[in-house]
Amino acid sequence: MLLLDGKKTAQEIKQNIAEEVSSLQQNGKRLPKLALVLVGDRPDSLSYVNSKEKNCLSLGMACEKHHLPSDTTEESLLTLIRQLNEDPAVDGILVQLPIPEHIHTDHVLEAVDFRKDADGLHHVNLGLMLMGDPYVLPCTPNGILQLLKRYQIPMAGKKAVVVGRSMLVGAPTAILLQQQNATVTQCHSHTLNLVEECRNADIVVTAAGVPGLLRPQDLRESAVLVDVAMNHDADGLCGDVYSKTTASALEQRLYAATPVPGGVGPMTIAMLMYNVLELYRKHEQ
Ligand code: NAP
Repeated sequence: MLLLDGKKTAQEIKQNIAEEVSSLQQNGKRLPKLALVLVGDRPDSLSYVNSKEKNCLSLGMACEKHHLPSDTTEESLLTLIRQLNEDPAVDGILVQLPIPEHIHTDHVLEAVDFRKDADGLHHVNLGLMLMGDPYVLPCTPNGILQLLKRYQIPMAGKKAVVVGRSMLVGAPTAILLQQQNATVTQCHSHTLNLVEECRNADIVVTAAGVPGLLRPQDLRESAVLVDVAMNHDADGLCGDVYSKTTASALEQRLYAATPVPGGVGPMTIAMLMYNVLELYRKHEQ
């Protein structure tokens, strides 16, 4: 089985970004900059924000972190976002989710100028993607697409099933696969016979967050599996299908699969870094 190695591919993408940033620096140019906004002290959010900052700095890009207390009002958060929108030194803005419940997440995300939307999840960017004229793409779906492309997985004319329809992963992934001319079936918690749908697919992308959702034998022989989920079982991190228990059966059955960990996860952060550079390029035009 071909291992779709997200860790290695993400490193290669980040290496290219670092080289481009280094040449900007050598030419005395302004450097791309990401503004990270965190409200509250959730340990998982803090660790995600720190990792994004570390990635940015390691690629030579600038990063500013705004860590606000959990009782921050919606108005003061919106004021900060407006300031970042206006700041010519800031190319990308990322508000770490979830934000405390007294603040409307939609108001905050829509307040970010879509031209600085590092996540690619602003409604304008989702709309432009749907129309086939993207400004920036959402990180996880684009990470999946880039991984499939780098490993030369044929998509045109193939049957693809996407399990999950969230705006973060499932829905945009289905659109991107369709734009690659795959015939896409989108499944969700109301799908009547998930196994039957998946058995017919050449490519299965799972993003449900349900460990053991599908067994290796529920996938067609020589199919391609992209397991996006990040679940935990008794052996540690696992996907919806890929786990320490299922890995060897999958290896014998499939043409290609992403491991968990080391598959889609590292691609997501690489595509975030790519988006910052891409927003910078557009900003400088
Ligand atoms: P989400 O918003 O909870 O969406 C889950 C989707 O899965 C929903 O559409 C849901 O259907 C569907 N679903 C749930 N149970 C199902 C079942 N038994 N059968 C079929 N469909 C089912 O989650 P998300 O934000 O999209 O994330 C999905 C997973 O990906 C999570 O494990 C998350 O941790 C992981 N993730 C990984 C990365 C990465 O970089 N690797 C990035 C983002 C997310 P309904 O719409 O009907 O409820």
